[in-house]
Amino acid sequence: MNARLRAACVVGWPIAHSRSPLIHNYWLKHYGIAGEYRREAVPPQEFAAFLGSLAARGYVGANVTVPHKEAALALSQPDDRAKGVGAANTLWRDGAVLRSTNTDVEGFLDNLDANALQWDRGLKSAVVLGAGGAAHAVVYGLIGRGVGRVIVINRTRSRAQTLRERFGSRVQVAEWGDETVLTDAGLLVNATTLGMAGQPDLPIDVAQLPGHAVVADLVYVPLLTALLRAARERGLRTADGLGMLLHQAVRGFALWFGKTPDVTGELRALVEADLGSSAA
Ligand code: NAP
Repeated sequence: MNARLRAACVVGWPIAHSRSPLIHNYWLKHYGIAGEYRREAVPPQEFAAFLGSLAARGYVGANVTVPHKEAALALSQPDDRAKGVGAANTLWRDGAVLRSTNTDVEGFLDNLDANALQWDRGLKSAVVLGAGGAAHAVVYGLIGRGVGRVIVINRTRSRAQTLRERFGSRVQVAEWGDETVLTDAGLLVNATTLGMAGQPDLPIDVAQLPGHAVVADLVYVPLLTALLRAARERGLRTADGLGMLLHQAVRGFALWFGKTPDVTGELRALVEADLGSSAA
């Protein structure tokens, strides 16, 4: 390892498919910053020791992905956002302190801001499908933006109920398969794994949504999910999972390398090409 380089990494188990190195190394090159961003495959039983050795390994910080996000929260000094979501995905060293945040929240919101201008203006009701880690970040973000009512629908109803307990009475729970809640939803978000390559499509009919609704899908393999295709065919505005992935990377890069990077068409095309070649 070159000691002059600032280095960061993404830590997960497994980690081979992470696109974060492609994104951060693109920005490093683009901005002429002498730095490196690497993958680190770390099993759960070694995660705490790995974090303890970040400085010794020459890392200024790290992204954290499945299955370490909850452990990362417990092993660092989280900001309000990471605490609120209950998971951390971005860590940085601040002197002797290891701090953390959750950038899935801003990734989700900034992607909507970039692709569906004023999507939150007067938004009274949003429907979120899913109740896992990603849904927690989405619901936290929507409540923070002042959305009046967030209806969470999950296959396992009890997990949707935990979101209401965490985020309060603006969160309501509906039954999996209940499409009546779509008729006055200004935003529909897929935060399940359905629609991913190799998984069934979501059993949701976008025809039930009002004409002004926006549809966001967190899934980015494939880029154009059946949900997004159906929404576009209906003329609805959409925001895709790759946009969220790119926007969530911005803050980590700024924290580690001292430059707030832009999410550009060129970067997006680079990652799209990589996703396309690995799907082939
Ligand atoms: P997770 O914690 O494992 O949650 C998975 C969710 O999918 C749960 O709500 C689960 O419901 C639901 N689900 C799984 N199989 C299902 C099925 N057959 N029928 C109905 N529901 C099913 O995963 P996560 O971390 O929240 O991630 C969710 C999705 O978001 C993934 O596709 C992930 O790639 C994507 N994501 C994207 C970004 C981005 O930047 N674009 C960031 C984070 C996550 P149960 O509770 O009933 O099991």
